Amino acid sequence: MNMLHITKSEITKRYKPIDSKAHKGTQGHALIVAGSYGKIGAAVLASKACLKSGSGLVTAFVPKCGYQILQISNPEIMTLTDVEETFISNIDFDIKPQAIAIGPGLGQEKITQNALHQFFKSNTVPLILDADALNILSINKNWLSLLQPKTILTPHPKELERLIGKWNSDEEKLDKTKAFSKQYHVIVVMKGAPTVVIDGDAVYKNSTGNAALATAGSGDVLTGIITSLVAQSYEPITAAILGVYLHGLTADIALPKTGHHAFIASDIINYLGKAFLTIE
Ligand code: AMP
Ligand code: MG
Repeated sequence: MNMLHITKSEITKRYKPIDSKAHKGTQGHALIVAGSYGKIGAAVLASKACLKSGSGLVTAFVPKCGYQILQISNPEIMTLTDVEETFISNIDFDIKPQAIAIGPGLGQEKITQNALHQFFKSNTVPLILDADALNILSINKNWLSLLQPKTILTPHPKELERLIGKWNSDEEKLDKTKAFSKQYHVIVVMKGAPTVVIDGDAVYKNSTGNAALATAGSGDVLTGIITSLVAQSYEPITAAILGVYLHGLTADIALPKTGHHAFIASDIINYLGKAFLTIE
């Protein structure tokens, strides 16, 4: 099988140091479309992880109820709001991001579903889809063919099952995911222990991470990291591989200090700097 282990040496080969002449305009602008009433935290976590992974500019696009939460939680993050108070109804913005994430805490309102449909029809910016964006695609499978090639999907096992159907063995899960990846020309980050990234027949198995990552918001943080790397002009497959490696590594570094129980998604963000330092 065409399987590569995502180890430190594979990562250092792919990592690009930040240019000493870089400025925020060259470090990529990422847009995070996320959140609904009661789940604005998902937008905060994804946006902050994005910023802490090196993007020069990060804008969050949230329902109106998320405005103050975003602005107060992170002064570095710019915030655009939908016309609706509690959910997203129209993904419309006047900025030019290099990568867009959609999904964390989004909810599945019919109007939000239609907003995604309209967006998919015209979007040409590299996309990272997670959480409810994946659930919305599972409900409307014919929209999958609207996605640009190399769109990154980051399902956890339940989200993957909704997309590809049930499997009876790991082998079948892998085969079905490969077939799905080839059919829609998308990259699938099969989150789990371990996380496996699929790009057609190419399979990349992550080597970092531990059960401390099994905590609320963990996946939202991963979405932010991968989106940041795409905005910094990494190829989508490289961003996916680098992202899952660094995400897992934060938990490996943190474990002796925080222990399993107290480690939360914000700690993934707190340890991102230490994780990057091991490959810089
Ligand atoms: P989500 O369910 O969307 O919050 O995503 C959970 C994240 O945590 C994924 O990146 C998983 O790979 C990771 N994760 C959860 N449980 C474990 C585990 N036991 N070992 C390693 N990684 C895990
Ligand atoms: Mg998730």
